[in-house]
Amino acid sequence: MTRSLISPHTPQDPTMSTSPRPLFAGIDIGGTTTQVVVCSDDLTVLDRAETATPAREGGRAMVGAALDALAPLLARVPGRLVGTGIGAAGVVDSVNGRILVASDSFRGWAGFTVTAAVEDGLGVPAYLDNDVNAFLYGEVYGGAVRGETDVLGMTLGTGVGGALWTNGALYAGPHGAAGEIGHIPGFGELPCSCGGRGHLETLASGRSITARYADRTGHRRTAREVAEAAGRGDDDALAVYRAAGEGIARAIVITAGVADITTVVVGGGVSRAWPLLEPFIQSALAADPPVSGHPVRLVQAALASDAVPVGAAARVRGELGTGVRSTA
Ligand SMILES: [Zn+2]
Repeated sequence: MTRSLISPHTPQDPTMSTSPRPLFAGIDIGGTTTQVVVCSDDLTVLDRAETATPAREGGRAMVGAALDALAPLLARVPGRLVGTGIGAAGVVDSVNGRILVASDSFRGWAGFTVTAAVEDGLGVPAYLDNDVNAFLYGEVYGGAVRGETDVLGMTLGTGVGGALWTNGALYAGPHGAAGEIGHIPGFGELPCSCGGRGHLETLASGRSITARYADRTGHRRTAREVAEAAGRGDDDALAVYRAAGEGIARAIVITAGVADITTVVVGGGVSRAWPLLEPFIQSALAADPPVSGHPVRLVQAALASDAVPVGAAARVRGELGTGVRSTA
């Protein structure tokens, strides 16, 4: 569906042949790592870099680190930067480009106006999104659910994030919280990192897989180590991943009942155990299907760590009205 902005230049318009190609930058500011990409108009990643996030040093330092990582890319990729998208963890005001609520791993981040700092540094328009929303933009425009219109995006990382794409557009809701499937009750009684109880995040985040395995065995293992143990037939590890998969399926059925989504795309570090996780999700979905009678398509995310920065770039491309433009 996406078509290049760069139309073939014609003899009638000789300026087209000399104008540099438009470039879009994408930035993903995470709690430990900041990823940056430079994309062409069709969202192909032309160059990428990563750097440590100075999360305790305040917003200006975090944006500064991202721009420092971006500078050499912009110096060596031919073209002209036209916009920058930023994805960031936490609750964001995407209209004013400001962080509203940040986790306690950040200092001086809540209240910081990210887009103003990026625009000052780069001299082009900037847009800010929640990182899970950016992840879903990336997967819809260039990943596993390209061109689909009704999608739930889930990220299984340190926490569990969710985002909703309905009728061909992101639906953020009036408070930016639509699709936050990781934090609704009904998934047991365990206390959640958000202060609530019985949320999907208590079963399906990386941190929770570690905790649930420790509850059963007394041994602390990373989510990846628990997955490896499951692969060796460790019953406790299998039970932890089965509970995660059943919880994810329940979240999918709830979302399908509310928003009639057709597809779910799952990313984040825990999703790397897809061969282990997917059968548990699928069997739970088969046992308790959506009320519509239509099965929901379940796919693993395709862009890995590029999803958030590419999605942020896709958002700015959309906002600037370039790209995805019919040449007809
Ligand atoms: Zn929660």
